[in-house]
Amino acid sequence: DTVERIVGQLGSPEIGGSYFTFSDENNYMIWAFLKKCYERGWIYKGTDVMPWCPRCSTALSEHEIVTEGYKELVHPGLTLRFPLKGRVRESLLVWTTTPWTLTSNVAAAVHPNITYVKVKYGDEYFYLGKPALDRILPKGSYEIIEEIKGIEMEGWVYEGPFDELPAQIRSGAVEAHRVILWDGVTEEEGTCIVHIAPGCGKEDFELGKIYALPTIAPLDEFGVFVDGFGKYTGMHVYDSSKPIIEDLNSKGLLFKVEDYRHRYPVCWRCGNELVFRLVDEWFISMGKKLNKPLEEITEEEKAQNLRYQIMEVAKKVRWIPDYGLQHELNWLENMEDWMISKKRYWGLALPIWECQKCGNFEVIGGKEELKAKAVEGWEIFEGHTPHRPWVDAVKIRCSKCGSLMSRIPDVGNPWLDAGIVAYSTIRYRFDREYWRKWFPAEFVCESLPGQFRNWFYAMLAMSTVMEGEPPFKVCFGHGLVLDEQGREMHKSWGNVIWFDEAAEKMGADVMRWIYCTTRPEQNLLFGYKRAEEVKKRFLIPLWNIYSFFVTYANLDEWSPKNLVTYESLSLLDKWALSKLNVLIKDVTRYLEDFNPYDAAIAIEKFVDELSTWYIRRSRRRFWKSERDEDKNAAYTTLYTCLTTLIKLLAPFIPFLTEEIYQNIVRSVNPNASESIHHNEWPTADESIIDEDLMRDMDLAVKVCSLGRSARNKAGIKLRQPLLEAKVVASEDVVRRVEKLKSIIMDELNVKRLSLTTQRSELFNYSIKIIPEILGKKYGKLLPKIQEAIEKMSAEEAIAAVKSGGLSLSVEGREIRLLPEEIRIVEEPKDDYSISEEDNVIVGVYKVIPENLKLEGLARDIVRRIQNQRKEAGFNIADHIETYYEAGPILTEVFESFGDYIAAETLSVVMRRGAPPGEAHSATYSLAGEILRIWLRKAA
Ligand SMILES: [Zn+2]
Ligand SMILES: [Zn+2]
Repeated sequence: DTVERIVGQLGSPEIGGSYFTFSDENNYMIWAFLKKCYERGWIYKGTDVMPWCPRCSTALSEHEIVTEGYKELVHPGLTLRFPLKGRVRESLLVWTTTPWTLTSNVAAAVHPNITYVKVKYGDEYFYLGKPALDRILPKGSYEIIEEIKGIEMEGWVYEGPFDELPAQIRSGAVEAHRVILWDGVTEEEGTCIVHIAPGCGKEDFELGKIYALPTIAPLDEFGVFVDGFGKYTGMHVYDSSKPIIEDLNSKGLLFKVEDYRHRYPVCWRCGNELVFRLVDEWFISMGKKLNKPLEEITEEEKAQNLRYQIMEVAKKVRWIPDYGLQHELNWLENMEDWMISKKRYWGLALPIWECQKCGNFEVIGGKEELKAKAVEGWEIFEGHTPHRPWVDAVKIRCSKCGSLMSRIPDVGNPWLDAGIVAYSTIRYRFDREYWRKWFPAEFVCESLPGQFRNWFYAMLAMSTVMEGEPPFKVCFGHGLVLDEQGREMHKSWGNVIWFDEAAEKMGADVMRWIYCTTRPEQNLLFGYKRAEEVKKRFLIPLWNIYSFFVTYANLDEWSPKNLVTYESLSLLDKWALSKLNVLIKDVTRYLEDFNPYDAAIAIEKFVDELSTWYIRRSRRRFWKSERDEDKNAAYTTLYTCLTTLIKLLAPFIPFLTEEIYQNIVRSVNPNASESIHHNEWPTADESIIDEDLMRDMDLAVKVCSLGRSARNKAGIKLRQPLLEAKVVASEDVVRRVEKLKSIIMDELNVKRLSLTTQRSELFNYSIKIIPEILGKKYGKLLPKIQEAIEKMSAEEAIAAVKSGGLSLSVEGREIRLLPEEIRIVEEPKDDYSISEEDNVIVGVYKVIPENLKLEGLARDIVRRIQNQRKEAGFNIADHIETYYEAGPILTEVFESFGDYIAAETLSVVMRRGAPPGEAHSATYSLAGEILRIWLRKAA
């Protein structure tokens, strides 16, 4: 399997130019980089306590553990006595889950502010944290003698658990055992007294540096105890727990041992438990952390300090999403020195030669330099790549003591290999002009959470050292691919979807559209349900538009030769083309701004409007039998939309668009480019963009949607013609909608559309008194007042109320009703069903006269015949004969609307009674009658 094959299957076969990290060019380029660091004094050999896999015999980097792996594991939780020197039968109670590290114990840490207690337990005395009492000692088994703060215990000396071991004696640990302070001690775990072994733990190592403690390193690279550990020497760390616990028990130091479940780091390669091990490693110094804002770092400080130089360079990159920069800066500000060595055999040979005698080392910057300095072994190396074992044969002379220097056995951290590509792949070492032409890269793209501290970081760091410039202009960081529930995909969880399987089952275009319609910085939830959604939402509607066009264009033998000019287009056509040109502008702008998401969403919206408005409203223009200018205009519009749309879509869904292109462009125009992907990118024609028309049409769409919902409320289906719809809206809206009246009437299936600004055309108003208020004031007069109001005209009353109050004369009394004492009730007129949104109201007239009922039934019949045509297997253009038997109502429909039904269904014969020969028949129930219809192909 190659990346090229997979990417090719996704539709980008021309990718190519892959590089290989083990190439000489890549290797020597890294040598050159390391040489520069060396010359600035940034390379050093240090020790570090590293997470280490004894099985793979390798250290793991900080990043590998952060990203990959912890497991829930059960370890023995040991509570131990550390007897205090010079105090009879008094011990610290210390807790640990890694028995093997006790062999290398140096100190015991307490928190300065936690309260500790001295308790009497049997005939001994223990010290432990007060918060730990309940979990360590059985209730009632002890007596508290004294409470003290941790800080008071600092410096107490104790006897270590393995002071007889030569490693303990040699290192000076035996004399060093004492209580130290550490803020990292928590109340939640153990005894609040932590055993410290600086050679066996990361934090222990740091503490050891602060307190100048001896460091004991018990394990070799395979996890086996080294010399100096008595009976443990030669034993594997994984086998050591049991004998150590037995040993502690027989010494009387073990207080108790319990199973302890916790998250423990494991190797992401082999799953084995990691140990922490003291090793020699090579580092690039990032410089001191100065703990002040980047703006306050002086030029001098920056010059000393690679960390801040990289931060400056990172700021010159455009990060997408923009918070990527902050991620990167935070990482740089806080990261430790970059460990560049790796204890492996295969990999980049670090070009560091070290003198065993005096400790001097030198970094070699390239093959030529090595040749010039070689005093031994060049003939063995010559002709080989700079890898082990050949490169190790070369010896050079120590400039300090004159001894032979050998290469260190370490290989390089893999991020060195990946970070140098902006130099190694474009001839930096031997063709600077060519390199300049291509550097910096326009764009890099990888997972942001995965790479801001790996690849992005390494590229930035290396380029900062080489040229002080960013290696790329734009860094596009995306989220992760997860399963549909938002979980990571794991083989063992059974939720992995392999690329080949997905490409086969859902298709590459579907996969691509899923990617494009997810905001890149968000995690992508990938799976077959998502694929179905995307198909239903976008790809199928798109295909349906295409197939609609092809079907009718074939029937009419329409070809682009018949394209008409803009002037002959209808408003609807002009609207579609206006939208199309806006789309071209939007998609172009979004893509130029590295924003495929908004481009894809804009395309989806356009396709939706094309299908649910343009085609819906134009269907009859394609269907009618005359081949007139209007039909041509519709074809012109749809053809233009489709052929342009597929060009916009080609980078997103290369396969589907190619298929459409071959069929509707290449097949009719042999001079067209061979592939859609060879076409010029569309450019927008501003003169076709008609903002007014688009705004008007948006209103028309809204009116129609309100009208349909008003029909719905009344339970009248859209096929039933109605006498009237009324639109009440502002003057501006009325004026705009006026122009598109016929489209709205068609869509709403009404004979008349009235547009008005008067609400009262759709509503009745009445005034009701509010009895809670008026009752107190007028008592028994209340019903009379209501009566008097009802006698007035509503308009009159409302006008009076609005102008401040309503005066009435009731039983000789003058009464003035205030606006807050009455309520104006608005009710839709009985004969209208109403829907309202944002001050646009549409009402449809619900009363259906007899002739319209029949017309509605005629439409019902048409729909049934059309479906029956499909069932009978007729082609869309086949002319047919229709025969029917029906009751009196439907017979009347056939008689009144026969021509209409015949035209809509391409029936050349429409006759009552059974057909003369074979025919496809079906029976329906409609308007309370049985309807039987026979269809046969016309001769
Ligand atoms: Zn491993
Ligand atoms: Zn030397």
